[in-house]
Amino acid sequence: MRMIGLIGGMSWESSAEYYRLLNEGVRARLGATASARCLLWSFDFAEIEALQHAGDWSRLTEQMVDAARRLEAAGADLLLICTNTMHQMAPDVQSAVRIPLIHIADPTAERIVAAGLRKVGLLGTAFTMEQDFYRGRLTERYGLDVIVPDEDDRATVHRIIYEELVAGRIESSSREAFRAVIARLVGAGAQAVILGCTEFMLLVGQEDSSVPIFDTTAIHAAAALDQALVTVQDINEAQRTAE
Ligand code: GLU
Repeated sequence: MRMIGLIGGMSWESSAEYYRLLNEGVRARLGATASARCLLWSFDFAEIEALQHAGDWSRLTEQMVDAARRLEAAGADLLLICTNTMHQMAPDVQSAVRIPLIHIADPTAERIVAAGLRKVGLLGTAFTMEQDFYRGRLTERYGLDVIVPDEDDRATVHRIIYEELVAGRIESSSREAFRAVIARLVGAGAQAVILGCTEFMLLVGQEDSSVPIFDTTAIHAAAALDQALVTVQDINEAQRTAE
């Protein structure tokens, strides 16, 4: 099993979900006592959030690159950035290390394309919904037609992330607000909705949408497992467990 390096703490609420999903996934694939080999670099999100809202992306890039190098030096074989927003600096992170970085948008888009869907609604932080680093990848590499909520809805979604979800608050009024935002995306033609923030799974799921939901946290963790569990030894081990 390969060592998965996690750049997390953005926020720890979602990193905890990554840790759970990776371990549950290894158990399902390899057996009851098997668990994920992983390393977690966990930032203080208050510092990250302050730099994001100050627009200091170059300082954030330095910190992300530093974390990636430390994880590689500590033995990681592959890397995950456990937040959609911080994929803004994914190209810098990837070019700073020799190990592969699994970009969160790639396995998500691959599943959407495989499902035969093309027009998708994207929910995330304002950075993710409004800047090109994420939407552009979905459009240019996968041919997806990406729509985002209107300005008021984007502000609502962004506020719920930074005032509630990263602070561990799950409010039913916010779930209702999300359902309405999703319904408006569907009304605008979305055939699917990307939960493009790694905390969204804590608030909403498939039951809150009339179209398929693509949860980036779960998809990203599953993609990491696909890459981490590919040795011949692991395949044999899985077969033995299944017999
Ligand atoms: N975890 C969130 C995301 O997936 C937001 C926190 C952050 O800004 O990194 O974008």
